[in-house]
Amino acid sequence: MSSDCLFCRIVKGEIPATIVHETETTTAFRDISPQAPTHVVLVPKLHSPDAVALVKAAPGVLDDLFRAAGEVAEAEGIADSGYRLLFNTGADAGQTVFHAHLHLLGGRELGALA
Ligand code: C5P
Repeated sequence: MSSDCLFCRIVKGEIPATIVHETETTTAFRDISPQAPTHVVLVPKLHSPDAVALVKAAPGVLDDLFRAAGEVAEAEGIADSGYRLLFNTGADAGQTVFHAHLHLLGGRELGALA
């Protein structure tokens, strides 16, 4: 945990967020600036700056994030229509919060990736 990390503070409940799912290792909340009808951010409770650092530090946690994403997709009713899971990794990819997080986007046709 890092006291100046935004997502660590959401995990600890210090900053409000609409939590939709929680497991021993993962917290999932609605993105504050949704890019699709369903836009949920899944974060490991363990602080790690990005997904590649996370898989090196704690590989099982990445499995947990994807499992939780599937459960959120089911709960949101988009498991059958389809959804996108993505990690922005680094500044050129548009990563703005340097605590690994998996975006889950769905509820509309998402089109091709840029
Ligand atoms: O991948 P990236 O680092 O850009 O994603 C960070 C995401 O966290 C953004 O989609 C942003 O809207 C979201 N966010 C949030 N709640 C906050 C701050 C950022 O949902 N308090």
